[in-house]
Amino acid sequence: MTSCARPRAIPFFDYPGTFLAEEEQLTGIFRRVGGRGAFILQAELREFEERLAAFTGARFAVGVGNATDALHLALRAAGIGPGDEVIFASHTMVATAAAIHFTGARPVPVECGADHLLDARAAAAAVTARTRAVLVTHLNGRMAAMTALEAVAARHGLQIFEDAAQALGARHRDRGAGTWGVAGALSFYPAKSLGGLGDGGAVLTSDPEIHERLLALRDHGRDATGAVTGWGFNSRLDNLQAAILTARLARYPDVIRRRRELAACYHRELSGLAELVLPPAPEAGGASFDVFQNFEVEARDRDALRAALAARGTGTLVPWGGKAVHQWPALGFAERLPYTERLFERLLLLPLHPLLDEEHVGEVSAAIREFYGK
Ligand SMILES: *Cc1c(COP(=O)(O)O)cnc(C)c1O
Repeated sequence: MTSCARPRAIPFFDYPGTFLAEEEQLTGIFRRVGGRGAFILQAELREFEERLAAFTGARFAVGVGNATDALHLALRAAGIGPGDEVIFASHTMVATAAAIHFTGARPVPVECGADHLLDARAAAAAVTARTRAVLVTHLNGRMAAMTALEAVAARHGLQIFEDAAQALGARHRDRGAGTWGVAGALSFYPAKSLGGLGDGGAVLTSDPEIHERLLALRDHGRDATGAVTGWGFNSRLDNLQAAILTARLARYPDVIRRRRELAACYHRELSGLAELVLPPAPEAGGASFDVFQNFEVEARDRDALRAALAARGTGTLVPWGGKAVHQWPALGFAERLPYTERLFERLLLLPLHPLLDEEHVGEVSAAIREFYGK
């Protein structure tokens, strides 16, 4: 590169690229499914649900409008409602808490640990006589320490629900994200590791009764005969999205491999910097198999680093608009969570998606080292 050449832009996520890289296959799907007029609750949705269940090891998967609905309907299907409290880690998308809120239950935010995931001890300390459940978020493609959380849940008689919107394919020991508790939610938002061309989500469950209730809740309370069995919502995964997601699920193991390779590359490039705290390397061992939906670091002088990267065309993201859920005044939380609040002054997501290669990661890393004068 000559000294006057501008570094190439590296967007945080490449939305048009995800379409253009598969344009022919995708337009083929539109023609095949669209030509049959098969848009709502058709064969492609059932096929995707079966394949998704098989991939995750859950007995059932139910396609819904998005992961927020997946969480909300899962909590409702299990009877969570007014008077109940549900514990969640405040370092998560606001959607996690909104799903609890809209059941009528009270979302109770707690601290995360050094791994940026729900701290089981903090969860135990937040239990009251009203606590019914813990909704654990497997953030950034990494599962929370489920063994410790299961022990807390068993001790206090709590149900576990999983926000696995970022964690399809992640495992703790030999069990996949979304298959530990009563139910787990997945998101197919375009930037998620398995993304569609619009909104989409699914609930995983192995409980036949919860499964039946979810099928009715997502379709106006109707059963398979069309009889209305109770109040319901309209939240069905589009049949076209399901067809696209089936095609992408077939390639998903390659996506996971690529994400882990890029994460390993960031580790080789950046692990010497004292100014950064990196997530565990893919091969760090232990009980966790991570899919690296995000590469979330803690960075000294985060805002200045972000500006320096932006100036050379590298996109980064500060998680959740810069605040944990409980820090948004409009939501009315009274809790203070000092560890999480300090963390939010340092968190930064570096670009990591399958359309990048090792050279992109090398360029971003070199710019970071340069910023810190290394
Ligand atoms: C994306 C996301 C959601 C919401 O998913 P939608 O499908 O957009 O509703 C919920 N929780 C977490 C952790 C997420 O990353």
